[in-house]
Amino acid sequence: MKPAKQPSLLLGAHFSIAKGLHKAILEAETYKCNTLQIFTKNAQTWKEKSLTEKEIKKFNATKEQTGIFQIISHTSYLINIAGPDKKKADMSCDALKQEIIRCGQLDIPYIVLHPGAHMGEGAAKGIKRIADNINFIFESTTRNSTRLLLETTAGQGTSIGHTFEQLAAIMDNVSDKTRIGVCLDTCHIFAAGYDISTKTGYEHTIRDFDDIISLKNLFVIHLNDTKKGCGTRVDRHEHIGDGFIGLDAFKFIINDSRLKDIPKILETPKLKNEQDADTINLELLRNIQLSSECRVA
Ligand code: FE
Ligand code: FE
Ligand code: ZN
Repeated sequence: MKPAKQPSLLLGAHFSIAKGLHKAILEAETYKCNTLQIFTKNAQTWKEKSLTEKEIKKFNATKEQTGIFQIISHTSYLINIAGPDKKKADMSCDALKQEIIRCGQLDIPYIVLHPGAHMGEGAAKGIKRIADNINFIFESTTRNSTRLLLETTAGQGTSIGHTFEQLAAIMDNVSDKTRIGVCLDTCHIFAAGYDISTKTGYEHTIRDFDDIISLKNLFVIHLNDTKKGCGTRVDRHEHIGDGFIGLDAFKFIINDSRLKDIPKILETPKLKNEQDADTINLELLRNIQLSSECRVA
């Protein structure tokens, strides 16, 4: 396998753990990725999973053997730590705690969380509840150093996190700032109304992010184009350059020196015209970096 031509670009995708946790790393390597995102359990079920000593060893050994040096975890989709239903919130807190514990065992530095949905109670109450629950979970996982990243959301239904102000408000209320941060998803912010498709709009959005959240708190970027227009608040991922965001925005991001050290992860569909889409999307992004004419100052 050829070594990556641009070690300055941390680029990867989300890979499946269905055949084993370490298999996701091996799969990422076949795509010449130097970073990847995984679930540490089946993301569609509440069923918990404790890792065996063997799984942990195999995972960490595989990480050592490959060129992968940044692994990110994404939490189960069922978790909602923002809602008023006590039983659901308790289940969610428990599940999130287990997610954090597994990341500790696997030495995963970042775990991405959808902040949650307030279920009609209003954003203010939801924001407060998210922060309270995070503080509670952090207090019960004190020896863990995995950073919890709140993902920007499209704002579907009553979901919180579709404005930078909402994410900043949650972070403000989290006591341990060393364990909290943000993951920016291009599809989600565009759906939420941040138009990054033009140079002006992109610069404006990054400036807003820096003013409100601070780029110091940005640790992961999800690179997805979208099937839906700006401000529609609908979350539908599309192949890079094929959607409403368009290729220019990805050129701006890949070549933005402010975002150089941040791992960038694809969450695009796995097939394109019955072809392997990760190969196509990754290649497209790598080639964008090679061309310097669109470099952002
Ligand atoms: Fe997500
Ligand atoms: Fe995402
Ligand atoms: Zn999404």
